[in-house]
Amino acid sequence: MNTKELDQAYVAHTYARFPIEIVKGKGSLVYDETGKEYIDMGSGIGVTSFGICDDVWQAAVTAQLGTVQHMSNLYYTAPCAKLAKLLCEKSGMKKVFFGNSGAEANEGAIKAARKYAAEKKGPEYYTIVTLKNSFHGRTLTTLAATGQDHFHELFQPLTPGFAYADANDLEGTKALALETKAAAVMIECVQGEGGVIALDADYVKGLAAFCKENDVLLIVDEVQTGVGRSGSFYAYQNFGILPDIVSSAKGLGGGLPLGAVLLGEKVEFVLGSGDHGSTFGGNPVCCAGAVSIVERIDDAFLADVKAKGEFVREELCGAPGIESVTGMGLMVGIKTVKPAAEVVKACMANGVLPLTAKDKVRLLPALNIPKDVLKKALDVIKAACL
Ligand code: PLP
Repeated sequence: MNTKELDQAYVAHTYARFPIEIVKGKGSLVYDETGKEYIDMGSGIGVTSFGICDDVWQAAVTAQLGTVQHMSNLYYTAPCAKLAKLLCEKSGMKKVFFGNSGAEANEGAIKAARKYAAEKKGPEYYTIVTLKNSFHGRTLTTLAATGQDHFHELFQPLTPGFAYADANDLEGTKALALETKAAAVMIECVQGEGGVIALDADYVKGLAAFCKENDVLLIVDEVQTGVGRSGSFYAYQNFGILPDIVSSAKGLGGGLPLGAVLLGEKVEFVLGSGDHGSTFGGNPVCCAGAVSIVERIDDAFLADVKAKGEFVREELCGAPGIESVTGMGLMVGIKTVKPAAEVVKACMANGVLPLTAKDKVRLLPALNIPKDVLKKALDVIKAACL
């Protein structure tokens, strides 16, 4: 059996895969089993921050593989400690808990918020207010956090203690948080899976002020928006706010599984010995790769991400067949006249691999995609929209 046949026969059918097997790649270019070249405009859904087999990341990972590939969290390892310091410096947070994925990072964030609120205000302060149309993961708790009914239907009962506010309705969110005795409000600054929709700046700022005044924790899910994607290291930095808890994953590991819960001043010590854990969390190989990613995302690099994001918008806004362009930095949603799936199919036939999010075409290219490669991909996308 070939790969597709094996996969069909033995892998659970949870993904509607495209009929392409990717066999190799370098940077923003990937190749299928026939040797056909594609420009990768999805980066593994925002994971391969510096593209496929980036030299610096690969060297960091392989060097660590040759020393220690894993130790339990009973012992110290340098990459984990170094990465935690870098993340705190970049984010304004104080401590880091490492896990393996975005959903796990959100689980940790929710646990930290519930423990803080129960200890500080009482056990009835457990509700987490999230936003309608949000996406926070696939575990039972993060599905409950996800404000989209259709994700909930088949998996009842979900973890209780979640309430859903309308995005950008500040008064409604505040009222819901007070009424439910919320431990925290959790937001994505740009709803990714929900269709690449940025929250209004006034809403985010107003919500941060409300949370501070009422000692309701603000959790920002930066799983998709984080690690340079938005043109700032974390997207909340574009809004001039400082959350209490930040979840991070996807692009952090550059291609290896890594998630992180970043704990701000209020909750710095809330998770004590034995309160939380993960066998693989903080794995030295994943962390060594992540250090090589995070170290390179400096101000000049972020300015370049912003500039490329603006270039994408200039190219696409007002082009025939394109109704609107949303998002931030190199996180782009394109509302097309044609159905998004049709546009993606035409792009694939012409050597470009975009994603979709709801009814939009979504672009999450590698952050270091060369401008000429980006331009080439955008030309193909524009032609596919006609
Ligand atoms: N949070 C957000 C905002 C996401 O976009 C995702 C995944 O798409 C997740 C959480 C879940 O991350 P993971 O698939 O790594 O568990």
